[in-house]
Amino acid sequence: MLNIQDIDKSFGSLQVIKNLSFEIKEGEFVAIIGPSGSGKSTLFQLIGGISALDKGAILLNSEDIQLKRGIIGYMPQQPCLLPWRTILENVTIVEELQHKPNILQARAWLEKVGLASFEDAYPNALSGGMQQRVSFIRAIVSDKPILCLDEPFSALDEFTRLEMQAWLLSIWEKHRKSILFVTHNIEEALFLADRIIVLTKRPATIKKEIIVPFDRPRSEDIRHTESFHA
Ligand code: ADP
Ligand code: MG
Repeated sequence: MLNIQDIDKSFGSLQVIKNLSFEIKEGEFVAIIGPSGSGKSTLFQLIGGISALDKGAILLNSEDIQLKRGIIGYMPQQPCLLPWRTILENVTIVEELQHKPNILQARAWLEKVGLASFEDAYPNALSGGMQQRVSFIRAIVSDKPILCLDEPFSALDEFTRLEMQAWLLSIWEKHRKSILFVTHNIEEALFLADRIIVLTKRPATIKKEIIVPFDRPRSEDIRHTESFHA
């Protein structure tokens, strides 16, 4: 489904990604781990279409998606919310650009993560963890077949993280999306992913791949936190 083919990326003389290739199959749930500064966020910016490759190709179902925004559900490492737009507007901004904002779905997801009452607030009224959840919903609201989430739960407390993990699992179970996510939390990688791609230090290339040798929990097994925000 998603094909990363022999890509290179440098910033001036700093080579960040070198000869990197991998594939994500339909419905696969894959974690990427690697040292800080190895090039994980750069890789996601390339896949998200906001930065250009030096070499190679990024294909989604054989279509070249280089520099095409809004094709995948992309959640950057920093929430990047527009300070002059409300939370609801921030969630639907990508779809707005494509003239089909799904306001009802956006509201439903905001409610699901306990942010319904912040719909008309502005980003500066929200904590870092809240902004991260808004950014997460922005990535999933447009219902793309593939999600690329860059450290989606890093700013959350343990309770909220568990709840969001369960929720992401339930989205994956229901809609069979392909999900690629970066984490520094090995436990989270083992818990959620089918496969873990380990990157080398900069320039990033694949050090090894680990097939997670046990079944992940089902989302309902960890739903006991569901009422946390109620
Ligand atoms: P990671 O997400 O794995 O921690 P990044 O992809 O953010 O790593 O960064 C990889 C390297 O590329 C770092 O050394 C960082 O300083 C550098 N880098 C990232 N973006 C830019 C940029 N726009 N200009 C110059 N250097 C950059
Ligand atoms: Mg990063």
